[in-house]
Amino acid sequence: MTDIKSMNLSELTAYLTDSGFEKFRAKQVLDWLKNGVSSFEEMTNLPKKLTVFLEDNAYIASASVERKQISRIDGTVKYLFKLYDGEYVESVLMNYHHGYSICISTQVGCKMGCTFCATGKSGFSRSLTASEMIAQIEAAQKDNNIRISNVVLMGMGEPFDNYENVIRFLRLVSSEDSLNIGMRHITISTCGIVPRIYDFADLKLQCGLSISLHSPYNEKRSETMPINRRYPIADLIKACRYYLDKTNRRISFEYALIAGVNDSDKDAEALSSLLKGMLCHINLIPVNNVTGAGYTKSTFKRQQSFMNILSSRGLNATVRRTLGADIDASCGQLKRNYQKGDV
Ligand code: SAH
Ligand code: SF4
Repeated sequence: MTDIKSMNLSELTAYLTDSGFEKFRAKQVLDWLKNGVSSFEEMTNLPKKLTVFLEDNAYIASASVERKQISRIDGTVKYLFKLYDGEYVESVLMNYHHGYSICISTQVGCKMGCTFCATGKSGFSRSLTASEMIAQIEAAQKDNNIRISNVVLMGMGEPFDNYENVIRFLRLVSSEDSLNIGMRHITISTCGIVPRIYDFADLKLQCGLSISLHSPYNEKRSETMPINRRYPIADLIKACRYYLDKTNRRISFEYALIAGVNDSDKDAEALSSLLKGMLCHINLIPVNNVTGAGYTKSTFKRQQSFMNILSSRGLNATVRRTLGADIDASCGQLKRNYQKGDV
């Protein structure tokens, strides 16, 4: 079956004209898709022959709300979406002062196996299509009757392990034929798949890039993030510098502060040396405790001290405000609890 929602206008036009339909039908179909219809039957201006053709040959990807948790603290909504094949993914909807942001998933599970991550612990099933990434945004918009202005690819999965579909998603979602969310309002987060960082830099998109770093030392980083054995820190930073050269866009580094693991003054000093002179921002995130991982977040005092060392060396660093702390709003946690029967 053809995944109609992953197609752009010219692909859809080719698809329909190749099957003997008029060119202008593609725009009509796209307009319906843009309006969020979930079946071909609802596309009432299409001739019967085309509706039947589409029903027989294509499908409209969707994400249906299976579970939803709303934070009593800040209104953050965490969704567990069910996909057409019964797989589940999570998204988190946040309301900042400047509008709604959504954190979406790019894969069902993840192959990367980071030890602090709930998704990493739950294994890997499959990658998402571009249409399934769009469907998460649409479903959250519909459920709340809102328009989402910012998207981060920081939910379940490693975006650069699903590179083609993610790039397709970026191009689609930012086009007028789809949700029209500008690339500047989208951020991709990667654990550091170096060759894809080069590919991404060469595309020179306006989209933001965030790198999950979590330690300035190879030995320690390899312990928590197995990908580091394949692409060690020096290679990663080299790729980041290439990205900066190509795009002139500031990079974000994510750094989860784990008590006694990566939060010492020495870690902060080594991190400062590593990123010295780089156009970047460091997001310090007190680690979310994932059941079974045995990690606890750094004390408030440690967080501040770590941040102060970075700032005093000229680096731009902030401790990220935790949203949805009462609803496990960190990727992979809801699905994990749901499958254990806890929620
Ligand atoms: N796979 C991508 C994007 C999804 S993970 C990546 O790793 O970057 C999104 C972010 O959440 C990453 O920065 C990741 O390191 C972080 N993260 C995962 N588990 C976490 C936890 N328990 N506490 C804090 N941050 C976590
Ligand atoms: Fe995958 Fe990112 Fe989790 Fe690592 S942190 S296991 S790359 S989702």
